[in-house]
Amino acid sequence: MDTVLLLTHSDGAGQAPAAALEALGAARRLSPAPVAAVFGASTGPAAAALGSAGAARVLVAEDPALDVARYATDAAAAAALVKASGAAIVVAPATSRMMRIAAGVAARLGGRIDTHVTAVDSEGGPAVTRWFYRQRIEARLRRSERPWFVLVDPGALPSAAPAGAPAPVERVPVVLPAPRTSVAGERSPASGEQTIRPDARLLFVAGAGWTKKQADRQAHADLAEALVRGFLAVSGASLGSSKSLVDQSGEGQKVFAFMSHLNQVGQTGATPRHPKGLATCCHGEEPHVVGWRFIRERRAVNLDPACGWARGKADVLYVADAFAVMEKVNALLAKA
Ligand SMILES: Cc1cc2nc3c(=O)[nH]c(=O)nc-3n(C[C@H](O)[C@H](O)[C@H](O)COP(=O)(O)OP(=O)(O)OC[C@H]3O[C@@H](n4cnc5c(N)ncnc54)[C@H](O)[C@@H]3O)c2cc1C
Repeated sequence: MDTVLLLTHSDGAGQAPAAALEALGAARRLSPAPVAAVFGASTGPAAAALGSAGAARVLVAEDPALDVARYATDAAAAAALVKASGAAIVVAPATSRMMRIAAGVAARLGGRIDTHVTAVDSEGGPAVTRWFYRQRIEARLRRSERPWFVLVDPGALPSAAPAGAPAPVERVPVVLPAPRTSVAGERSPASGEQTIRPDARLLFVAGAGWTKKQADRQAHADLAEALVRGFLAVSGASLGSSKSLVDQSGEGQKVFAFMSHLNQVGQTGATPRHPKGLATCCHGEEPHVVGWRFIRERRAVNLDPACGWARGKADVLYVADAFAVMEKVNALLAKA
């Protein structure tokens, strides 16, 4: 039977990303006792979490240089862990840090890689289900090449459940290349806020209606910005946007300073996975049909009762003024 490895990095506090436990759940579908491996500056909490969630043993690679995401050092640590495990199948969470190195590590080890994997199973041998062509085509496939790297999309699978006593932890010595880059500091988006939060329970989608003229024939973009930012602050939601709203910056119109094209959801944007979604002032087909594809419970606020996409794609449509609704919601959340 193929040795299956769950490979992840830790964060600054030594913890595994939430998606690593989901990827471990996937690894457990391929093997009842997968090996887990973590690299980072510290790995204690991550090793404990993975070792209590069904991993047979946990390999760790620790080095101060692994405190920050850097291709050369991350790839060297990941390759050393895969070699030490002797794994034929490497399952990893598709975090941005992992996505950056996984293809390179697979190439170094003479393996193959599949990304955007949303399911794995072992009926008749290991197989994965993944998406192609911007999530329009779903395929189930197997590979004979080893090691086979499988990157599991966050939010697609349930986390591995706790499974008894913690597994033993083994340190793997790694020789990291001398870093040629150093991290001088972090610079956040203009507003100083991170509005894309993949682990949030709610995706809040803002549409171009927020900047349109309202009943008093005036636009209230500053108030709109304050309401949306206020909601993100009290709810912890992730911010999505329609293309029309983010495109306004190119046309010199008032645009939310904390928003960029990275927030766009839809056909030419992202299709994030969150348990719930709330769309406001948004009419477009692309955000509702494609951008919300993987959102499980969907609600929308729109002034227009005939908004076909909000009606057709939301579970609940509130026909209401989003300015009034969000003001009230923010006040209630602030009180709570
Ligand atoms: C090739 C192609 C690719 C595209 N890809 C994408 C994509 O990836 N993502 C995307 O989003 N779009 C995409 N689009 C654009 C898309 O077709 C729509 O034009 C766009 O999504 C519309 O954005 P909107 O709903 O924010 O704006 P509008 O269509 O202008 O809708 C604004 C809505 O706000 C409502 N509203 C106004 N004031 C209020 C209020 N006070 N309270 C409540 N509701 C209010 C209005 O009733 C209206 O329904 C693409 C288009 C093309 C041609």
